Amino acid sequence: MTKSKLEYIWLDGYKPTQSLRSKTKIVKDFSGKLEDCPIWSFDGSSTQQAEGSSSDCVLQPVAIFTDPARKNGYLVMTEVLNADHTPHVTNGRATIDDDDSDFWFGFEQEYFFWDLSTNKPLGFPESGYPAPQGPYYCGVGAGKVYGRQIMDEHLDLCLDAGLNVEGINGEVAAGQWEFQIFAKGARSAGDQIWVARFLAERNAEQYGVAINWHPKPVLGDWNGSGMHCNFSNSLLREAGSEEVFKVVCDAIGKQIEAHISVYGADNHMRLTGLHETQSIDQFSYGVSDRGASIRIPNVVVDNGWSGYLEDRRPASNGDPYKIAAVLIKTVKAVDVSAASV
Ligand code: ADP
Ligand code: MN
Ligand code: MN
Ligand code: MN
Repeated sequence: MTKSKLEYIWLDGYKPTQSLRSKTKIVKDFSGKLEDCPIWSFDGSSTQQAEGSSSDCVLQPVAIFTDPARKNGYLVMTEVLNADHTPHVTNGRATIDDDDSDFWFGFEQEYFFWDLSTNKPLGFPESGYPAPQGPYYCGVGAGKVYGRQIMDEHLDLCLDAGLNVEGINGEVAAGQWEFQIFAKGARSAGDQIWVARFLAERNAEQYGVAINWHPKPVLGDWNGSGMHCNFSNSLLREAGSEEVFKVVCDAIGKQIEAHISVYGADNHMRLTGLHETQSIDQFSYGVSDRGASIRIPNVVVDNGWSGYLEDRRPASNGDPYKIAAVLIKTVKAVDVSAASV
């Protein structure tokens, strides 16, 4: 008999930003399959998801990955349901109402390693600041790179778990990093981002280092953290038309509030118009424009106006389920006949 460790992961009910929670279930002779992961429950009164008098919330398994850090371990992503098995109000995954795999997502998750002894980014001195921004982005060498070993361990964990990480890079601020995850389908993209976030947090625990997901953890001339959302559907991938890209961008630009409201808390601190961002209350798009809300990648033009778009507005602390859901909703509603194709 083998006893497997199934780590059930879910999002709590804290506002305005939900955090990860998890607990371990021991299962005998486990098949490794999602359908054999039992439904479980937890005390919602401890996670701001229920009142104490009726505290049980349900954990519905939705995706399973190997847990490379644990013997006989699995990572089970779950969504939170009410006792009657309807989606809990905190369940962002349930807001994806049109999850055909025609929509592809590439999220670029930026974050800071956070030194709990200084309450500053890893690499920041106890008082004052390190050298100004410049050498850190894709930097190499001591004094320019902080936390490479922790980042590398995280990368290996993600790959060994079976997450579709496409790359990592050191970011513009000291102690700031990025990883990218690509998936077909909004649910899969969201599941993988959340499990990658989980692995980042759990791995860094060993070093007394936290992951700071806030979009502007250091004020002043230091970049904030975003989670650019690259997306496409067959309309964009097969467009062959500048007009189609314009119509889609214009439609997104008419829904500023619907999008920004799910793009992460405190995003106004990051979307200032500086540091490669557009202001939160403005909307613009342009080819290769990193100061725009939406960047049309150069490769789209190179490919005769077919490909994908990059919404640069989502913050590092945004919920990828909700971000993907609103993009699908807006793009699906686009009337392509308005484009003279
Ligand atoms: P940059 O830093 O230049 O903005 P990255 O290389 O960090 O770009 O991220 C680009 C992301 O775009 C990758 O995650 C990639 O998977 C994603 N991507 C590429 N093509 C598509 C596509 N057709 N649909 C959705 N995402 C895509
Ligand atoms: Mn990137
Ligand atoms: Mn980046
Ligand atoms: Mn980007």
